[in-house]
Amino acid sequence: MKKAYFIYFVILCFVILNSCNHQNQKEEKKVLQFEAMNTFVTLQGWTENEKALEQAKLIIENLDKKISVTNKDSQIFLMNEYSLLADREKNQNEVVCEIFDDEVISLLGRALEFAKITRGAFNPCLYPITKAWGFTKEQYTVPSENEIALFLKKTDYEKMAVGKNGKVEFESGMLVDFGGIAKGYAGDVAILKLKECGVEAGLLDLGGNIQVFGQKKDGTKWKIGIKNPIAEGILGGLEIEEGAVITSGGYERFFTADDGKKYIHIMDNKTGYPVDNGLVSVTIISKKGEAADALSTALFVMGKENAIEFWRDKRGRECDDFDFILIEQTGERDLEIFVSAGVAKDFFVLDCGANVRVEEVERKD
Ligand code: AMP
Ligand code: MG
Repeated sequence: MKKAYFIYFVILCFVILNSCNHQNQKEEKKVLQFEAMNTFVTLQGWTENEKALEQAKLIIENLDKKISVTNKDSQIFLMNEYSLLADREKNQNEVVCEIFDDEVISLLGRALEFAKITRGAFNPCLYPITKAWGFTKEQYTVPSENEIALFLKKTDYEKMAVGKNGKVEFESGMLVDFGGIAKGYAGDVAILKLKECGVEAGLLDLGGNIQVFGQKKDGTKWKIGIKNPIAEGILGGLEIEEGAVITSGGYERFFTADDGKKYIHIMDNKTGYPVDNGLVSVTIISKKGEAADALSTALFVMGKENAIEFWRDKRGRECDDFDFILIEQTGERDLEIFVSAGVAKDFFVLDCGANVRVEEVERKD
């Protein structure tokens, strides 16, 4: 926890230092910090409205309550429990559930859409696997190959369909988890609320995932730090005008098993094992937090080559325009950074003690 606080503190300092020029004379900067969605959240808004940040906090907390896989009252928890019960009783292969909350059902629909676009690299139905590795309760374990094969059969997102009136149909034993998309989506809805409350510019930090909106009055862009994936501190950063900068990192949550191997919290949908493809950090830059979040997880799972291919192929067609910063570890202190053309000129590296090589990735069209 101490380490997490330190990382968080460093990122926050970086972002705050770089945004403190922002002051509009009439509007005062307000800051609100709290814990939600299993992480630390900081909201900053330039506004005269004392209540604005509190309103955005409520939005995030309410969403968390509705979709958390561990909150016993959440709609997702109840759906998952029902699915397990049907599976245990073996009398129901097909399950139909009703989700009464429009926001939850539409988020599920979009999450399944991202699963289709990414061919399951982002898969909200991977929860039986994530759970088997003990990531939900931090009671880590390496499941047997048999267990993995068994649980993997319950992760086919094509067997889950969102129908009319909140109906969700799926195979018993399937379980949903929004861990790979929720923070980005939460940022989107929180920004909508802040704008509705008259906040002109703001910065949201949900566990290191940054979303900014509004014009800085001094004309400069927002500077966002990118965490060094192999040591404490910042590796570099990015200047953006508006949007989301969302990172999936193996360093965020992992455990080292008795065999000495490190297992991270991002799962490979094909093998049922934690991803181990050389990538240590994937940042997606996009207008919407939801897309940036789902895609950061997906590109991490795809691996460098496929991720680049996906960006060239799908960007701007099947999903909104986006850019990436992929970081591959090639030696103990060696990092290769691949930055897509759209953000290459805005990306910078700081002296961080690692041997860093940066390569720009072109569009090819
Ligand atoms: P992120 O940090 O956005 O990459 O999200 C990682 C979280 O998403 C994990 O802690 C799991 O809850 C969940 N998750 C793990 N692997 C996947 C995957 N391949 N697709 C979707 N969600 C995943
Ligand atoms: Mg994600």
